[in-house]
Amino acid sequence: MNLHKSNLSKNQIIEEFGRQILVPGISETGQKNLGLKHLLLIGLGALGTISSQYLVRAGIGKITLIDYDKVSLSNLHRQINYNKSHIEELKSEVSKKVLSNINSVTDIFQYPIAFEDYIKKNDVNNLDYILDCSDNYQTKTNSSLFAKNKCISYSSISINSSEGIFFSQDYKNLKDTNCFKCLFPKMYEQNNRCLNSAMIGPTAGFVSSLACNKIILGLAKKILKISSEILLIDLLTSDINKLELKQSKCNHTYDE
Ligand SMILES: [Zn+2]
Repeated sequence: MNLHKSNLSKNQIIEEFGRQILVPGISETGQKNLGLKHLLLIGLGALGTISSQYLVRAGIGKITLIDYDKVSLSNLHRQINYNKSHIEELKSEVSKKVLSNINSVTDIFQYPIAFEDYIKKNDVNNLDYILDCSDNYQTKTNSSLFAKNKCISYSSISINSSEGIFFSQDYKNLKDTNCFKCLFPKMYEQNNRCLNSAMIGPTAGFVSSLACNKIILGLAKKILKISSEILLIDLLTSDINKLELKQSKCNHTYDE
């Protein structure tokens, strides 16, 4: 199996990822597929750091991390890539350091800039997946419109207090369908900047785990196909409500 970073032998791959390879839907072929994929992760707060740990450890071939923010003391109760020694350092730089050398497969790149600047300045034609963990309504709208225009599989997660939202669109296979703004039109008026305001760490952990589970299984497929859905998660009542999304016209535009 020739994975992204190095030519590992089959035995080395089984030694590193054997328990994951045993999962139905992954197998050795799926592990190889994971090693060939490139995921863009936007936002390295609570949701982003937890997701980054799972996605790197799964053996995705290339992961690009984007966040222009710096670590502060108030982040540490929920953002698991950081400790007190990282305060005032860039989250993307610290995360890359913390996530390096976890496996022999994943190449990690980091950019301490906004999503909109990243896509202006970099080659974005080889992305397989975008996961938006940011807390910014405009970023989520832009990232979903960009993914739609470029036909890239897309998920966004957000939380507030004990409630989480997982939103996924199979933009790779659906030519024109709803963006984030179409589906959450009122969120802007309610809470533009800090979608992930009140929270305890485990809520972010639950929502991130759910998203990463779906993303890893999706990326393990040879031809990436994911469900288009919204999951509304309430960890106070333990209710998860699923809305399956039908293809529907989006009239919003993203100006590159
Ligand atoms: Zn739209």
